[in-house]
Amino acid sequence: MSHYTLHCSKCDTILENVSFSASGHCKDALLETRYRDVRFSESDAQGIWKFNWLPVHTPDFPQPGPVVYLSEGLSRHLGISGLYIVFNGYWPEKGADLHTCTFKEYEAAVVIQNAKESGVSGLTVASAGNTARAFSHLSHVSGFPVIIVVPRMCIAEMWYLEERARIPTLVVGDGDYSDSIDVAKRVSHIAGMPFEGGVQNVAKRDGLGSVLLEAAARMGRLPDHYFQAIGSGTGAIGVAEMAERFIRDGRFGSRLPRLHLAQNLPFAPMVKAWQKKSRTLFSEDLRPELIAEITTRVLSNRYPAYSMQGGVYDILDAAGGEMYGIPNIEVFAAMEIFRQTEGVDIAPAAGVAVAALIRAVRAGSVEKDEMLLLNITGGGEKRYAQEYKTHEVDPYFVPKNISDKEIEEMLCSLLNKSS
Ligand SMILES: [Zn+2]
Repeated sequence: MSHYTLHCSKCDTILENVSFSASGHCKDALLETRYRDVRFSESDAQGIWKFNWLPVHTPDFPQPGPVVYLSEGLSRHLGISGLYIVFNGYWPEKGADLHTCTFKEYEAAVVIQNAKESGVSGLTVASAGNTARAFSHLSHVSGFPVIIVVPRMCIAEMWYLEERARIPTLVVGDGDYSDSIDVAKRVSHIAGMPFEGGVQNVAKRDGLGSVLLEAAARMGRLPDHYFQAIGSGTGAIGVAEMAERFIRDGRFGSRLPRLHLAQNLPFAPMVKAWQKKSRTLFSEDLRPELIAEITTRVLSNRYPAYSMQGGVYDILDAAGGEMYGIPNIEVFAAMEIFRQTEGVDIAPAAGVAVAALIRAVRAGSVEKDEMLLLNITGGGEKRYAQEYKTHEVDPYFVPKNISDKEIEEMLCSLLNKSS
């Protein structure tokens, strides 16, 4: 018997023995993992595989986990005392060992292991930037085939570790993100490698939720406040779901952490909608030209998991959350403050979260004696580059109207090359 079942958040149906769990049940609602073990526990396994609340059975490749510590420098700077940082990236002195420097590694590792155990032969990934980087890395580490499909504007952020060049990476030269999703769906069908499923994939959300597993274990309780920058919202939803599990466990507190979620202005569709308490995003806030103006491309998702049942609107509503729109200038300032006070470089998206924390403290939204958790979703890239060589992706350009026959031929040559 599996140690989990899947539960539809809309109709309460429980699905036993589900194989690959990358799609939902009811329309516009998420499936949620229900672990038979209501009590959280850690085994002596390494990295994230020590947690009992992940939808995997016998992981067979390593995946380092998050590092959680009590802040001194940034705390002093802000005049607060209970600030914990969950650092995801490369920072060997702290024990942080993510070579792609992003928390998306947890997502990729759990999704790949879950797919492997479900008898899936490979996955198609249509995410860009740090997610594609993480999936390429984990495809290499696990030996599990992955095809990456991204729009052209995203290749700049897809640097790779040395050996990654052989992961098939298709770049849709003449289209935007939605065109590349369309191409990815056709590639997925023809290659027989399912789509990774986005926010619908429970393995993705639970993998990202492992930041809260590590944090609650180290803090001994749930934080009162949680800070994170969001693009699709998948990571924050994963964390909110883990918080619910800790409350059912009973030993970590009875109150959901208040969520402080942030986006980079001027592209901040969820911030704009939440400020008007709207469950629907506004089309004027989703204009692609706004994306050109932000510094955090990884937060530029135009199809975020906001409106659906169990999505960002609902988790904010349940936890009494707040959203922050952070302009570029504040992002850069926050990155610099973090580097000076904590001692390591962080990615712009993490700078968005730091800026939200600074605003919340200044606005008096957090009490002096409360426990805070700041999710540094990516960091140590500069540090990593001092010690290791990184490589640019070797892309295979395809047009958005590529025919099925051309996709077949291309896959043949690409998959032969990579094996
Ligand atoms: Zn349902």
